[in-house]
Amino acid sequence: MLFKTITKENLRTFITNIIKENQTFAPVVVSTDADNNPIYQFKKVDSFEEIKINYTKSYSSIKNFFLPYKEDLSTFHFNENGWEQKINYRVNPRVLFGVRACDINALIKLDQVLMKGSFPHPYYIARRKNTFIIGLDHEPMADCFCQSLDTNEVVHGFDIFLTDIGPKYFMLINSSKAFNLLKNITIEEVKEEDRENYIKEKNRLASLFKSHVDVTGMANLMDIEFESSVWQKWGDKCLSCGSCAMVCPTCYCYTVCEKINLSLKTASKEKMLYSCNLIDFAEVAGGHNFRPKSSDRLKYRYYHQHRGFVESFDESKCVGCNRCQKACPADINPVEVLRDLRKENIK
Ligand code: SF4
Ligand code: SF4
Repeated sequence: MLFKTITKENLRTFITNIIKENQTFAPVVVSTDADNNPIYQFKKVDSFEEIKINYTKSYSSIKNFFLPYKEDLSTFHFNENGWEQKINYRVNPRVLFGVRACDINALIKLDQVLMKGSFPHPYYIARRKNTFIIGLDHEPMADCFCQSLDTNEVVHGFDIFLTDIGPKYFMLINSSKAFNLLKNITIEEVKEEDRENYIKEKNRLASLFKSHVDVTGMANLMDIEFESSVWQKWGDKCLSCGSCAMVCPTCYCYTVCEKINLSLKTASKEKMLYSCNLIDFAEVAGGHNFRPKSSDRLKYRYYHQHRGFVESFDESKCVGCNRCQKACPADINPVEVLRDLRKENIK
């Protein structure tokens, strides 16, 4: 890792040059919510001016750049001589600018499963390798609890990471690609004053977190509280809509569907993101459903986050972004569910 600084003006020039030559995606305002607050999403940008550099949180995570809601795994073409299968892993190089630390940490968790796991996912790997990531520090929102999960800081999984230290950005450079791209722009060595400002800013950002949850020993607690009434309490509220998993930066469960065109000349194998909260998620051939109750489905989602993933990778799958609560029509708040399990809400 290299540490440098870049003035705000030079960063603007750097990003403008990147946008000219690459498909670049960054946070922009796409709408407003009921309280007239802006809703941000990562979209393709054509100029630096379009970017909302001080955005709060994107409604969906950047997961969908790597795991789209729907994708064709392969297509088939039939003719009189037989059939041909086409598989396309190709992804054009692209840049994501303004990614938050928790979302980069979410990608690192997906990498564990989809790049380094027993069944590497070539589509994910192609997208990950062809995406240049520029991260950006930010003030946490009142409901962010990433600090409790140690995901408010990031040390790899990106090309460049920026922290605003007043007139310039403190810059972590983490790839040779980034180093080469920066050759055409003026960057500076870190001075004593920059180091001080960086540490001060990091401390300030860390002090702004308002939402906390204690996840110490959570994996064991999940087992101990397997029959807890907490699952019934929150499961009864759950509408089994699956929205939480769609916006979650680390949920990767999917289903596969085979479609044959009525002409019988073409077919496709389509992968779709799915959610363990959906009613038929655990239904098997013959119609038996292993988790017909919403309370069980909700419980297993939390089990995957804080028990199963911990067993495999020694860390929770959740990064504490709280997108799931924002998207949930029943206002199910993961912090409250976990506090209930710890019996912290009992007076
Ligand atoms: S807070 Fe919710 S949306 Fe965010 S990582 Fe955890 S489970 Fe997923
Ligand atoms: S978004 Fe809320 S209601 Fe919908 S499945 Fe998730 S927890 Fe249940």
